[in-house]
Amino acid sequence: MKCRKCGGQAVLELRRHNAAFCVDDFVEFFRNQVREAIHRYRMLERGDKVLVAVSGGKDSLGLWDVLLDEGYTTTGLYLDLGIFEYSVESKSKCEAFAAKRGVPLIVSTVAEEVGAPVPVIKAVTRRPPCSGCGLSKRYLTNRVALEHGFSVVATGHNLDDEAATLFGSVMHWQTDALPRQSPALPSTHPKLVRRVKPLYRLSERETAAYAFLRKIDYIVEECPFAKGATSIVHKEILNRMEDASPGAKHNFLFGFLDRARPAFERTEALPLNECARCGQVTTGTLCAFCKLADQVKRAV
Ligand code: SF4
Ligand code: ZN
Repeated sequence: MKCRKCGGQAVLELRRHNAAFCVDDFVEFFRNQVREAIHRYRMLERGDKVLVAVSGGKDSLGLWDVLLDEGYTTTGLYLDLGIFEYSVESKSKCEAFAAKRGVPLIVSTVAEEVGAPVPVIKAVTRRPPCSGCGLSKRYLTNRVALEHGFSVVATGHNLDDEAATLFGSVMHWQTDALPRQSPALPSTHPKLVRRVKPLYRLSERETAAYAFLRKIDYIVEECPFAKGATSIVHKEILNRMEDASPGAKHNFLFGFLDRARPAFERTEALPLNECARCGQVTTGTLCAFCKLADQVKRAV
């Protein structure tokens, strides 16, 4: 197997691109895909203060690595979810990465902000763990970004994540979710910080290869609550389709973004208010995060 670029020994074959690359040319291919994403969706400007949401996994640490090497001004944000050993280890991976690269890392702890860690929130609400966890992550990331004056939040969602989310939304025809499925979400309120996903063009296998080749020390284990999640089932289905037809995920997601998404865009925006308690954005009077924190505080 020869590298498409230099003709040297290839280390990785990318069937959907009908190509193979050596180490250096794969790393360059990866960075080019990130540059293309940033350019195409005007994700980042040179003057942006970027908050990179890091979980300790290959995607988010790989993203931080690329953005640093591309010269962006970044700070990491690690949300300590309090999920047993998984959180202890993933936090130490983020701290070690930040220390090695000499870059700042903010740590916010769900147990302090909500009143209990994710496993207790799950028990109190009697809802799937990802429900309270996802809500807390979205809320705290935005609030930290606002409080510290960041202009944009970058997350490590890759092509597989995005295709699986799209698949879930289409399976249930969640037409409200479809317009929000985008590699770049603009701010629709002064208190909502812009969000971008610069890895949306890269598959999970490619982000794993990048992290490995760049010798990034990341947490390999998944969150213990991920097992039962429907997104994992959707990923498995899409992987089977990808095996049978390389490029299937890419075509599914990119076809949606280019051709179908505009059809679901709303003309009028939902009226947005500020939460009576915390001042963050909500469509009601009290935001979902404050309601969750109330429920948890009553129970613990
Ligand atoms: Fe949170 Fe669910 Fe992700 Fe675990 S799998 S980190 S519980 S959203
Ligand atoms: Zn609130």
